[in-house]
Amino acid sequence: MDVTTARERLEGMLSELDRSIGVLQGDPVAIRDRSAADAGSDLTDADRAQAMLTVATTQRRAVIDALKRVDEGTYGRCVDCDKPVPEGRLEARPEAARCVQCQGKRERRR
Ligand SMILES: [Zn+2]
Repeated sequence: MDVTTARERLEGMLSELDRSIGVLQGDPVAIRDRSAADAGSDLTDADRAQAMLTVATTQRRAVIDALKRVDEGTYGRCVDCDKPVPEGRLEARPEAARCVQCQGKRERRR
């Protein structure tokens, strides 16, 4: 994948994420005062919205980091071992910062 395509895809993802984050933050269920809500079902909805917001925020950061690497000319190389990230992996996840091996090592550490 060339960097122009990568940038376009990443920018598309970023505006998509911005939109969902905005929706989630504006969701009345998500921002309802938890202490006032005694009903368990309300808390479940708020928790779900909060979880989605966390995922979206994390991915947004990954996309912004990837755009930074596009600017710096290091996009497509693993941030840990500096080897090229396989094309197929970038196709599936343009924001991927690591090759499969390094990502695997990282996830096992958690
Ligand atoms: Zn690596």
